[in-house]
Amino acid sequence: MPALSPEILAQCPDPAEYLLCSSHQGWEPDEAFGHSRHAPTHRFRQYVCKPCNSKAAKARRHLARDYDFQRKYGIDQKQRDAMVAEQDGKCYTCGKPEAESRHGQLCVDHCHDTGTVRRMLCNVCNLAMGMLNDDPATLLRMADMIAEFKSEVVTR
Ligand SMILES: [Zn+2]
Ligand SMILES: [Zn+2]
Repeated sequence: MPALSPEILAQCPDPAEYLLCSSHQGWEPDEAFGHSRHAPTHRFRQYVCKPCNSKAAKARRHLARDYDFQRKYGIDQKQRDAMVAEQDGKCYTCGKPEAESRHGQLCVDHCHDTGTVRRMLCNVCNLAMGMLNDDPATLLRMADMIAEFKSEVVTR
């Protein structure tokens, strides 16, 4: 441990009962630290109090989640949120609000050939497109057909 400054030492309420947390640089009673500090091998390690420890663990878990997300979808959570915001929080193709998509989340849609991230879609649009092999010709014909018979209903 680096030498403690006199200012920090002066803040110690009782050297027998308190340890310095090297993370937040504050004196905490013995109970605030994990039991491992009693092991002789840990005598010279830097002590970190339990709240600082769990804060660090939480940050590590968060990082791990971000990493998984990035690996799975090719973008990180921030980029994802930015894309959703750009689409006003709605599915790009059907305009359904994000909350109505499965798990209240829009899907990151990829081009199945290149893996490029395209847009954010609701789970139904994402699934439908995939089932039709992302084939523009099929989808266009489908759209034309639906429109054709819809207009027939209206004019009849
Ligand atoms: Zn601490
Ligand atoms: Zn949709």
